[in-house]
Amino acid sequence: MRIRILGTAAGGGVPQWNCACPGCAAARADPRLRRRHASLAVEADAGRWYVVNATPDLGEQIEECPPLRPGPARRHTPVAGVILTDAELDHTLGLPRLREAPTLRIIATDTVREALCGGLRLDRVLAPYAGLSWATLPHEAPEALDGGPLEIQGITVSGKRPRYAADLDAEPAGDAWVVALRIRDRRDGKALVYAPALAAWPAGLDRALHDADCVFIDGTFWDDEEPRRSGFSQRTAVEMGHLPITGPDGTAERLAALPAARRLYTHLNNTNPLVDPADGGHRRLAAMGIDVAREREVIEL
Ligand SMILES: [Zn+2]
Repeated sequence: MRIRILGTAAGGGVPQWNCACPGCAAARADPRLRRRHASLAVEADAGRWYVVNATPDLGEQIEECPPLRPGPARRHTPVAGVILTDAELDHTLGLPRLREAPTLRIIATDTVREALCGGLRLDRVLAPYAGLSWATLPHEAPEALDGGPLEIQGITVSGKRPRYAADLDAEPAGDAWVVALRIRDRRDGKALVYAPALAAWPAGLDRALHDADCVFIDGTFWDDEEPRRSGFSQRTAVEMGHLPITGPDGTAERLAALPAARRLYTHLNNTNPLVDPADGGHRRLAAMGIDVAREREVIEL
């Protein structure tokens, strides 16, 4: 399985347009420290790629990733579609950026689809530009992706809704608001789990994580108090729907205990000290066998 990391930042990116915190200021001064919104590309079949989550940076992310660039035919794109792990704005605002395509294939849970259509009215807005071709992300059992060698499954993580969908009636579509994406290659059995938003660590997720060769976990906040200490929120990390890396609810010990060959944090908020490559947290995590996902890294499983 071929995986390309397209971005590693939480909502806002690094730097965030209205933020002069140390992490954002440093990234303005040194472009090497910039982080785009968290996203992956996974090769579904030779030359056909799915993008996992459509961020506001998606146009630039495609340009920065050579296998995703169009060609050789004038309007041929290797981007087969988008798989969504939730309906948050920083994971879906990139969909309108793909509206130049005649059709846009989107794989998501029914809950996420309902939020995007009923809450954001994305289907109505985009219909005059691009036909939306929706497919349901299977969550009971894995299913083949487009009949190819990869199988995909969404593992429900939490019922945390995007703020715009707080009062949306999503009863008929279930409660799979946030999933971890599991992708398994049937050619060699290698599996990837991508979980950029973890409000909880449920048993089903734990099983999938133990069975994976490469796992990406929510690294939004270093500790629970970080959002309040930074002054941008009255809520703690847990209250914002993100288990922190360290502390009583921290995920680092559990991540380090997984048998996966690659264990990575992604989705870093610009307040997270890990946005500084010199921060001591990197060494502390490295000693536990944990990496912080790097922009444009290529992973071959
Ligand atoms: Zn900042």
